[in-house]
Amino acid sequence: MNATADTKSESMDEKPKPAGPRYSREVHPEDTIIRVGGVAIGGGHFAVIAGPCAVESEKQLVDIAMSVQSKGAHILRGGAFKPRSSPYSFQGMGNEGVKLLESARRETNMPIISEIMDVAATELFDEHVDIIQVGARNCQNFALLKRLAQCKKPVLLKRGMMNTIQEFLSSAEYLMSEGKDNIILCERGIRTFETATRNTLDLSAIPVIKKKSHLPVIVDPSHAVGYSEYVAPLAMAALAVGADGLMIEVHNDPCNALCDGEQSMTPDAFGDLMKKLARMADVMDMQI
Ligand code: PEP
Ligand code: MN
Repeated sequence: MNATADTKSESMDEKPKPAGPRYSREVHPEDTIIRVGGVAIGGGHFAVIAGPCAVESEKQLVDIAMSVQSKGAHILRGGAFKPRSSPYSFQGMGNEGVKLLESARRETNMPIISEIMDVAATELFDEHVDIIQVGARNCQNFALLKRLAQCKKPVLLKRGMMNTIQEFLSSAEYLMSEGKDNIILCERGIRTFETATRNTLDLSAIPVIKKKSHLPVIVDPSHAVGYSEYVAPLAMAALAVGADGLMIEVHNDPCNALCDGEQSMTPDAFGDLMKKLARMADVMDMQI
């Protein structure tokens, strides 16, 4: 193959580059608002996603769903496919877990969010959940991002634990460059030298991202700190620095949770936090 042919085949693979990144305010100055099942996220609407780390049984999920809803949560979370560090840890209920999320949605009318780990599950997720979560470990799984760009459901993209803010935004651009515009970003803590908490919550990422991007950005304080007693102060701090919402792990029996019990709030502690957030939201001119 000669040099001319080489150049041509490379340029055929390239996508036309927009004037600025599609996530940026240069291209789209107004806040993007994501709407799902009557819930709005972004543009002054603060949404709270709550629920267990993992779906464990129908009773566990429905009980937690009803209690977080009664305390003011808007969206129910629950992992069906769990990315665990050890292959011997509980890996999630899989497809059965997705079905249980659907029954919790039927019981409560709350939209449901769950994490996808495999490109092969894309259709299942696009059909059965309301928001598709991409976990920290897959923030730079570009094959997965490109496939998810074809989905109709919003994608919640978590920041990789080793990703800079720019890398995180570039991952969002992978979705957007393929035409997807319903994306929520989620800061969930990054790895630092600190060991007192599970990760280090990068709260400064929120105003930085909000300046650069029109996409809504929420905070997951549970995975950031790893201990339930620290979740409430950081959740309030997230609202104070301008986040558009929160994702919080809540379990009705944290000591016996199959995953992340130590960082899971009880429904009562979550209720106390929601009351404080409602008062803060008033001052911040946010609707909660
Ligand atoms: C989760 O939200 O269940 C999760 C695994 O979080 P992260 O991808 O942020 O570790
Ligand atoms: Mn978890």
